[in-house]
Amino acid sequence: MVIMAARFLDGAALARQIKLELRDRIAAFTAAQGRPPGLGIVLVGDDASSEIYVRNKLKSAGESGVRADLHRLPDTASLDEVLAAVQSLNASPDHDGILVQSPLPAALGRTAEQVVFDAVDPAKDVDGFHPENVGRLVQKRPHLVACTPLGVMELLERSGIAIDGAHAVVIGRSDIVGKPVSLLLMHRNATVTVCHSRTRGLAALCATADILVAAVGRTAFVTPDFVKPGATVIDVGINRVAEAATVERLYAAGSPRREEFARRGSLVVGDVHPGVWEVAGAMTPVPGGIGPLTIALLLSNTLKAAEARCSGSR
Ligand code: NDP
Repeated sequence: MVIMAARFLDGAALARQIKLELRDRIAAFTAAQGRPPGLGIVLVGDDASSEIYVRNKLKSAGESGVRADLHRLPDTASLDEVLAAVQSLNASPDHDGILVQSPLPAALGRTAEQVVFDAVDPAKDVDGFHPENVGRLVQKRPHLVACTPLGVMELLERSGIAIDGAHAVVIGRSDIVGKPVSLLLMHRNATVTVCHSRTRGLAALCATADILVAAVGRTAFVTPDFVKPGATVIDVGINRVAEAATVERLYAAGSPRREEFARRGSLVVGDVHPGVWEVAGAMTPVPGGIGPLTIALLLSNTLKAAEARCSGSR
C-alpha cells in the first residue's frame, strides 16, 4: 500500500477551472470581433507523442471556443516549407497564436527549431519561445511566456504555496522549462538554484529546497533522499515507460498503476519517484499535474495575444 502523506496538487482540476474562467472572456472577444481567437498549429512529421499532444490541444481549444487549425506537413518537408507555413500564419488576420509542435524531424537539422521559432511573429508567439518574448521575461516585463512554466506558477500560486523568500531548486535548464520557470520563481521573490547535468552534489542541494521543480526527462530520477520533508515538489517530467521491470520497481503489487500498465502496455511517469509522496508536503501527480495546465495556459496565451492584437497594443 502506498502511504500518501503529501498534499495532492491537482493540476487537472485547476486546468478545468482556468478553462472555465477563460470561457466568458473568449465569448466576449468573439462577440466583439465577430470571430473567435484563432490558433494555428504546425505539425511536421508523424511523431507519436506529438500527435497526442496536438490532438489534446485541438480538443481543448474547440471546447473553449478557440478556433484551432492544424497545418500538417510530411516528415519529408524542407525547412523552407515549414517557414512558409509559419509565414502564412504570421500574415493571417484570423490567427492570433502560432505554435510549431516540437520536436521537428531530425532531418531538418540541429538548428531548425531555433530558426523556425525565430520566424514566428512575436505578437503571435503563444509558446513564448521567440527571443523577443524571452528577453521581455528576463527583464520582468513579460508579454507571452512559455506555457509549462506559467502552469507551474499558476499551480503554486493558486494552491497557496509560499514562494516569496522560499528556496526553489529547479533541476533542468532548458529554454522551454528550466530557464523560464527559474526566472518566474525569481521574479516572485524565491531564491533560485538552477541545477543541470554538471551540478555537483545534486541530491544534497535539492534536499535544501522548499520548492523543488523537476524538469529532467528521466523516469523517477528524483528519489526521496532529494527531498526535504514537507517540501513542495513539482514534477514536470513526462516519460513513457514500456518495460515491466521498471514498473515493478516503481509500483507495489496491486497498485492501480501496475494494472494500468497491464491494460495499456505502457505507462506515463514523471521525473519524481513515487516514494517521494511519503516525504513531500505537497506534490503534483503525473499524469494529471503540469501537463493539463500547459494546455490551459496555451489557451490563455492565445486569448491574451488575440486581445492585445485587437486592442492595437501589439
Ligand atoms: P531537456 O532535455 O531539454 O532538458 C533536460 C534538463 O535536465 C537539462 O538541462 C539537463 O542538463 C538536465 N539533466 C539531464 N540529466 C541530468 C542529471 N543526471 N542531473 C541533473 N540534471 C540533468 O528537457 P525539457 O526541459 O524540454 O523537458 C524536461 C521534461 O519535462 C521532459 O520529461 C519533458 O517531456 C517534460 N515536459 C513536460 C511538459 C508538460 O507539459 N508537462 C512540457 C515540456 C516538457 P544539461 O543542460 O546539462 O544537459
